[in-house]
Amino acid sequence: MSESKNKPFIIPVFLPNVGCPHQCAFCNQTAITGEKQKTISTEKLNLYINEFLNYKKPQRGKVQISFYGGNFLGLKKDYAGLLLHEATKFVIRGNVDSIRFSTRPDTIDKDRLDFIKDFPVSTIELGAQSMDDRVLTMAKRGHTSLDTEKAVCLLKERNYEIGIQMMVGLPGDDDTGALASGRRIAELYPDFVRIYPTLVLDKSPLANWYRKGEYTPLPLQECVTLVKRLYLLFEEKNITVIRMGLQASESLDRESTILAGPYHPAFGALVYSEIFLDKAVSILESKKDLHDMISIRVNQRNISRIRGLNNTNIKTLKQKFHIRSIEIIPDMTLAEDMLVVGHLPSVERNPQGRSRQAKRV
Ligand code: SF4
Repeated sequence: MSESKNKPFIIPVFLPNVGCPHQCAFCNQTAITGEKQKTISTEKLNLYINEFLNYKKPQRGKVQISFYGGNFLGLKKDYAGLLLHEATKFVIRGNVDSIRFSTRPDTIDKDRLDFIKDFPVSTIELGAQSMDDRVLTMAKRGHTSLDTEKAVCLLKERNYEIGIQMMVGLPGDDDTGALASGRRIAELYPDFVRIYPTLVLDKSPLANWYRKGEYTPLPLQECVTLVKRLYLLFEEKNITVIRMGLQASESLDRESTILAGPYHPAFGALVYSEIFLDKAVSILESKKDLHDMISIRVNQRNISRIRGLNNTNIKTLKQKFHIRSIEIIPDMTLAEDMLVVGHLPSVERNPQGRSRQAKRV
């Protein structure tokens, strides 16, 4: 699985919709982040970062201060400079390794990159959202797919770590279009991607279209399957998918925030579960003499993925293949994407006759 293994310790500084030239149709960053305050003073930034650093465990790897939720390079240069300058002090002191931020593709140009070149910025995330210009227009993005391609080229020339954010379920998009966008993004070889389902957020233009019946969001299950296909597409190209679905937050979980759409607090887990279900189904379908009591060995990290939320995968497998019991066995010797199906009598047993570290369901 291409999940990030050495996740940096991120100090997230949310600047909701700050620096945005307008409101994109699907967006309401205050709803997503719960942050009402638009900008932050350098004094508050300093306090906030220090407070966050107290949570850092000694064994954590790279530490990054991250400016999210707005369009960083759309900020007035004076203000962006103040924030970068304040964050740089932590890097100079050795408490933080580098700075990252998210920005629109159309804000990446030579002038702005010259402006940030003396600050310790290592990672830049581009909100591409789609590579279909018609979909970008409908989402009122105000930039084109060519802007994303040009931005990636400029960032590569300067050796930045590049992340690309894409969305599924945008107005005018469909599975074919999203997969085509995914392929074009993969061809740009970013260092990582994030995949977000389109949600109908309160106080977004999309909310009006939804109320008037002009927009229908993707159903959750369809969205999980589409994101799974995108995940596998990126995995094939060795591109890490660092997030699928929005991070659950108090603000998002409030009923009034999301009017409709494929939101699930553990969206990524649903995608991984479906990947493991597919693997198990394909192995079981290839077995000629399938017993009604089987074992499935997976790497310890993937126990919950093969089970699925509330054991849904186990129930599906039992029903589909008429299996009486399935024993899930953690096996650290297996690679993370591996899954081995066996018949139960061959499972290692302790003297009391119970299988070790395994639970039969
Ligand atoms: S999607 Fe990005 S650019 Fe558009 S309004 Fe939201 S934060 Fe601003």
